[in-house]
Amino acid sequence: MTKPLVIAIDGASGSGKSSTARGVATRLGLAYLDTGAMYRAVTVAYLDSGVEGSDPDAVTEAVVAADIEISTDPADQWVRVNGRDVTEEIRSQRISSNVSTVAVIPACRENLVARQRAIVEAAPNGIVAEGRDITTVVAPDADVRLLLSADPEIRMARRKLDHGGQIDDAALRDQILRRDADDSTLVNFTTAADGVVSLDGSLLSLEQVIDAVVDLAEQARAGTEAGGE
Ligand code: C5P
Repeated sequence: MTKPLVIAIDGASGSGKSSTARGVATRLGLAYLDTGAMYRAVTVAYLDSGVEGSDPDAVTEAVVAADIEISTDPADQWVRVNGRDVTEEIRSQRISSNVSTVAVIPACRENLVARQRAIVEAAPNGIVAEGRDITTVVAPDADVRLLLSADPEIRMARRKLDHGGQIDDAALRDQILRRDADDSTLVNFTTAADGVVSLDGSLLSLEQVIDAVVDLAEQARAGTEAGGE
């Protein structure tokens, strides 16, 4: 039996990592895990619980207690928290503005990382997981480890398109520049760790980036088979 293939992709918001990861998973018949959706889902839980974001112990309590169910089907993404479907709500500005509160609390990260590792290990055919710390913390032994980057101007333009142009400049800067700054306090997702391939997708189409990752996956698989594992 072939060993499940694990592909780890990190990058900043708007780098194209979600579309890339979903596209690669679809092409290779693998599962797909959007770890950002998990951070967003527990943000809904902590905001709903009414605790103050300035109280890290209370936020951690709400995060640890949150029951998360998440789809790993690249063609049908949904997420539920404490039994409630929050697939759309997690993309709202309210959640984008508050998610870094959770992401900078080490105990919250530890809890989510453990859940993410369990999902990666349980994928029978393999998985493409994307986020900020997948190549370094969640799946440092992944078969393919990629850091995807793109110019901030391009990332803002892409995010604007995601919102159908219906987002003002302040919200756009908050979603890209402010979030990059806050998110990078605990996790380095701008320089590739040892063994991580760096790819600047600024001037590439989505299909070109997907092709590049599929090539890396095929090389990794050929290497594993040649190694007799
Ligand atoms: O990827 P996305 O922009 O949806 O992620 C939402 C937020 O979740 C990020 O801004 C970051 O605060 C957090 N995150 C993280 N580590 C991950 C994935 C997401 O800290 N692996």
